[in-house]
Amino acid sequence: CGIVGYLGPQQAAPLLLEGLTRLEHRGYDSAGLAVLGTGLRVAKKAGRVRDLGADLPKRFTGKVGIGHTRWATHGPANDVNAHPHTDAKGDVAVVHNGIIDNAGTLRQRLTDDGVDFASDTDTEVLSHLIGRSTAETLEERVAEALAAVEGTYGVAVLHADFPDRIVVARNGSPLIIGVGEREMFVASDLAAIIRYTTTVAHLEDGEMATLTATGFTTYRQDLTRIQRS
Ligand code: GLU
Repeated sequence: CGIVGYLGPQQAAPLLLEGLTRLEHRGYDSAGLAVLGTGLRVAKKAGRVRDLGADLPKRFTGKVGIGHTRWATHGPANDVNAHPHTDAKGDVAVVHNGIIDNAGTLRQRLTDDGVDFASDTDTEVLSHLIGRSTAETLEERVAEALAAVEGTYGVAVLHADFPDRIVVARNGSPLIIGVGEREMFVASDLAAIIRYTTTVAHLEDGEMATLTATGFTTYRQDLTRIQRS
């Protein structure tokens, strides 16, 4: 339902909670955050953003992070089904808006390969596909996973092995990149980030982007570059 991401000199968690609060009017049933500090940490639960914030583990620190408010389509609204979703090693975190139509087929294929699923969501197939990819870059791993997916998505991905970036992709579910002073934002709705920046770039369907603290690049899912101002 709602996505927000941050990368820059500040602690990500308070900014993400603030952004998620500004998406509350859209409705949701659960909320969650992932931050990359010393390792990847995830906190998520059914219920309100303020309860997530109040129960955040100590030292939930990191200057890169993603957050989500969920409106359940696949699996009930409970703590486990809340986003972000991780892979088996806990290196990958994915937040997703939309519906993966072939999640059942992909889930069966992954399960046959020995993958244990933690949740009932369609989204979790993406975490495992990205986590199992052996491609060199995170961009390639995300593109490879998305190539297997049919459906709609706005997604934001963190990976512990690529701690300087957030990779995002859009197909049928809006994503906006916000450019700050040596900091970058991503959101499904301008309301989440307008307090911090009004310099934005809109991602189009079929496009991906990489955010680092110094800027962003946009490209198609075949990883050919797109110039975007
Ligand atoms: N289909 C996903 C789920 O049920 C995402 C729903 C949403 O857009 O919030 O978890």
